[in-house]
Amino acid sequence: MAALTRLLRSAVTSGSTARISLSTLASEPKTGFPAGLAARLAPSPPRKGREDRNVQWVFLGCPGVGKGTYASRLSQLLGVPHIATGDLVREELASSGPLSLKLAEIVNQGKLVSDEIIVELLTKRLSKGEEKGESGFILDGFPRTVRQAEIIDGVMDIDLVVNLKLREDVLVEKCLGRRICNQCGKNFNLACIDAKGQNGQPDMYMPPLLPPSQCMPKLITRADDTEEVVKARLRIYNDMSLPVEEFYRRQGKLLEFDLPGGIPESWPKLLQILRLDDHHEDKQLAAA
Ligand code: ADP
Repeated sequence: MAALTRLLRSAVTSGSTARISLSTLASEPKTGFPAGLAARLAPSPPRKGREDRNVQWVFLGCPGVGKGTYASRLSQLLGVPHIATGDLVREELASSGPLSLKLAEIVNQGKLVSDEIIVELLTKRLSKGEEKGESGFILDGFPRTVRQAEIIDGVMDIDLVVNLKLREDVLVEKCLGRRICNQCGKNFNLACIDAKGQNGQPDMYMPPLLPPSQCMPKLITRADDTEEVVKARLRIYNDMSLPVEEFYRRQGKLLEFDLPGGIPESWPKLLQILRLDDHHEDKQLAAA
């Protein structure tokens, strides 16, 4: 991993994407489970990935889709760190360091932080993990631009990219319902989604994810979870991040997952598609 953090730093300054070979990219179906993807799933036992290291997975998806929730559950199940670049940005904001004013302006307008800054924050986080002996990761919210995808692709292997999908009207409602406990730091959602099916899709019910009573008076809303900013973030996702889905689809690494409903319904299905459903006990615990 030391080599990785050095390489990440040099890649972002030089713009190098040396290992990318377009000729190796395979054309894959647009949805579902691409041929050859099975080999990328976590082998049994799931903690170890290829080359005797832990899995290196990415979670993609629009704001509000639940990347953080599912990435965090899987990271516990697989024993790898869950690294969310949005959390790294918020930590930097809270630190009142030299970057924080600049970052606050960008984030509160729903815009993306520059590739250089985000790679620097990720590199720092990976270095810290390396010092603690971490191996593998689930990245959440990174990469968000094709350039970020090229940078990471130039320095390490991503085994699998899980793309979570949900209707846009539900995404907005979910973002507006998000709350964080300012004491324990856990995420909750007060929105109760009860949406009629569209375009032949079934109705969708997602119960709220309510906090325990001790967290209730300490709930705060993210400054960028206002309706205007959420809509701006969704527009930016479509412009900047949809091409990232295509980048990984062409590499045969993209696993599309349409969320069928709330956590109790979606979590077991996600485990099933990831071939992790033999972990019945973990599944039941996490879905509880
Ligand atoms: P969400 O997925 O709900 O939009 P995140 O918590 O992932 O939110 O990110 C919050 C904000 O942090 C983003 O709107 C953006 O300003 C910044 N950010 C996070 N990850 C990245 C990234 N990979 N590239 C650029 N900006 C990022």
